Amino acid sequence: MDPDCAICSAPATLQCECEAKGLDIAVKQAEHRMMNSVFNEIRSWVRGHAQDYILSYFGMLTARRKELHAANIQRITDHAWHYYRAPPHPSELANAEMELKRGIDEDWKASVQRYPEVLEYYYGLVDLSLPADDEREVNDPPMSALMGGKQRVRLRQPSTERKRRRSRVSIEPIPDVERRREGRRHGVSFAMPGYSYVQPHGY
Ligand SMILES: [Zn+2]
Repeated sequence: MDPDCAICSAPATLQCECEAKGLDIAVKQAEHRMMNSVFNEIRSWVRGHAQDYILSYFGMLTARRKELHAANIQRITDHAWHYYRAPPHPSELANAEMELKRGIDEDWKASVQRYPEVLEYYYGLVDLSLPADDEREVNDPPMSALMGGKQRVRLRQPSTERKRRRSRVSIEPIPDVERRREGRRHGVSFAMPGYSYVQPHGY
């Protein structure tokens, strides 16, 4: 005999949706409480690394661009001396400078357009782990944990043993050994490789 709806007290035979909806809301609230700080941390980690990468990619493109420019100026100068025994015409130099500026703007645009790809790459390095279903703490959670003893979901700092990079987000149980070594009791854990980066000072 099924119990009445816990929310509106309608008999089970009516199959109201109160409980399913209530559960959806409770899940969202719990997720918000437990996961928000982790998501924020992941977001700022991904953002920081993506910015670093884009800046260094831009640096690489412009370094190449400036080398070409220097060679171009040299060529213009040599040409002028060779044919006119004079320095190059200022307008020729100004054109070269303008071309450099245009090129650098293009390099920046090309760099910034890579953000979606680069962000996905760094998100792909985040490693989410769930404990195995047969773990005692999963099957038989201690009452103390359920009675308000707050177990926070937290980020694991990568250890030197965890240098191995994964190309995708994986949700997988962590082996017991690893779990114990990391001193976690239970819960979802997150690991991000190289958890330290220089926050770029804008661009
Ligand atoms: Zn109901």
